Amino acid sequence: MPPLPDVHPTLAERVRTSRSLGANADYVLHGGGNTSAKGTVKNILGEDVEVMWVKGSGWDLGTIEAPGLPALDLQQLRALRSAPSMTDEVMVREVRRCMLDPNGPTPSVETLLHAFLPHRFIDHSHADAILALSNRANGRELCEDVFGGRLAYLHYVMPGFPLALAVADLVDNHPNVEGVLLHHHGLFTFAETADESLQLHEEFVGLAEALYAEEKQAVSQAQGKPTHPAKDVLPFLRGALNQETSFVFSLRDDPWILALLGQSNAKELLLTPPLTPDHTIRTKSLPCWLDISGEDPAKSVKDAVADYSNIYRQYFEAGCQSRGPRKELDSLPRLVLIPGLGMIGVGNTSKAAAIAADIGEHTLLTKAAAQGLGAYQGLDDLDLFDMEYWSLEQAKLGKGVAPELTGKVAVITGGGGAIGEGVARVLLDAGACIALLDLDETAVSATAKRLGKNTLAVTADVTSEESMNAAMEKVCRAFGGIDIVIPNAGIAHSASILKHHIKDWERLTAVNQTGAFLTLKTAGEILYRQKTGGSVVLISSKNVLAPGAEFSAYSASKAGAHQLAKVAALEWASENIAVNLVCPDAVFRDGENSSGLWDEIGPDRAASRGLSTGELETFYRDRSLLKQEVTAEDVGRAVLFFAARRTPTTGGLLNVDGGVASAFPR
Ligand SMILES: [Zn+2]
Repeated sequence: MPPLPDVHPTLAERVRTSRSLGANADYVLHGGGNTSAKGTVKNILGEDVEVMWVKGSGWDLGTIEAPGLPALDLQQLRALRSAPSMTDEVMVREVRRCMLDPNGPTPSVETLLHAFLPHRFIDHSHADAILALSNRANGRELCEDVFGGRLAYLHYVMPGFPLALAVADLVDNHPNVEGVLLHHHGLFTFAETADESLQLHEEFVGLAEALYAEEKQAVSQAQGKPTHPAKDVLPFLRGALNQETSFVFSLRDDPWILALLGQSNAKELLLTPPLTPDHTIRTKSLPCWLDISGEDPAKSVKDAVADYSNIYRQYFEAGCQSRGPRKELDSLPRLVLIPGLGMIGVGNTSKAAAIAADIGEHTLLTKAAAQGLGAYQGLDDLDLFDMEYWSLEQAKLGKGVAPELTGKVAVITGGGGAIGEGVARVLLDAGACIALLDLDETAVSATAKRLGKNTLAVTADVTSEESMNAAMEKVCRAFGGIDIVIPNAGIAHSASILKHHIKDWERLTAVNQTGAFLTLKTAGEILYRQKTGGSVVLISSKNVLAPGAEFSAYSASKAGAHQLAKVAALEWASENIAVNLVCPDAVFRDGENSSGLWDEIGPDRAASRGLSTGELETFYRDRSLLKQEVTAEDVGRAVLFFAARRTPTTGGLLNVDGGVASAFPR
């Protein structure tokens, strides 16, 4: 890491060592864990102020920078130790009041715990290995055997003011310990230098892991095999979950996960509470077990999700009876374990799904590898309820508006081309996950790379049913299912009927017409399994409404696809799938992605109009009523209108052509 200019040397040390701690996923996952450092800074009056820098919320230890560790007035923080009591909301307010820069990120909820301890550097993690030991019926004895008097031990207390007080009292009574082990929560180590505190952390975690290192290796090297394709199961699961909210999936099917899920004791071992309670926010308390060995996967899914929801509601009601009313969260799982298929992370964004799945992988590996240490014992329902329904978490509910297509999955054929890229960008901005299908592997990979997150590139041939089925399997593996289908792949050829070669005719018909048919057929199968409705937006053409001479195969094959979409609108309305058409006129490029179609036919089309190739774009713009060029993003916005089902329209069409009178629909 380069040196940090104008950063206090103590803080620079803290940033460097926090990143080391955060770099290890066995210690810290997705925002978990926190660190602090204490030192002296000068205030605006030139006076020395004792401060503590502590991790701010929204920052990840692995990538943290100096602004991610806001400075707080240490004396003011420590004065809070004599407060008679403090709710979580008051604690957050009081901690924020101590910040030197009120615009900094809100300090960790464990800030007071750090402040009440005397040590200069403190490292805190929810390391898998520590939890592997502590989450046992015999956890306390096991930990004492391994760490002896080097650590102080505390039974589980929910994070907040009472935990900060309990840890401070514990360390007052054991002033020589090198750290504190919080059962069912994690490890704190502390020292006078940043490196020492980090090294202690690594040493204690290493001691714990050594107890089951061989078993961990054996579990992670086991070889299981899938028994079911994803597309035969996941669309049913997605359909069962996507009733009020849309979720996407993250499938983990490494051979070790498949081997573990196939073990006879897997259900008993893995349907247990999380390693540390803050995982409940991402994964809920328990995973859902889904057995698909029966005849009817749709029924297995329905029954498993219904059972899960019933148990969840009982847990919620029991929690409310004991703790008072709370705003109920949905009763759907965030981790689903499917022997023969894998583990599914569920989230309303692909990031949330991946986070749930990452936590799931660590949890499965730890529970399986450390089972020889004694019976696993997680926290009881009420402790988990307290975390899941924590007032600080509940306050975040309903804040912020999710983009329109959040949790939706769109498949775009011709995804490597200019229109495909423009449409994809608009739908991505609206929150969707995108699968780009294209025959050209190089082009589709480059497009996916330019578009960045939430984009999957799939090489597929729209003229082959087998290839399209394989593509749909890849889409289901990546996201779980499909909501929006955009048949867009198209090629063109310019020739008069008398001079048109049959091979070119067949080539265009195969891609433009049969390709649209196979896209609808293979993607439609997924939509029918999901039973959550959907939207098809076929990229037709101005040409269908106003054909041009010397363009017969293109115009006829696009007209065939256009008509096909109308038939799909008739057939699929009963499934609440809307099918609509967008008819663009010449789109020459999207940014640096120039249209392959126009690169190929541009010179001939220009010649047939007596123009040079360079004059073609101006010709199309100037012949439009609005004198406007049509961009790929213009097409994308028209697609979004239909894809988001903004109006109850099916079988409709929208021209995106700058205004061409001969193409007015009638
Ligand atoms: Zn913690």
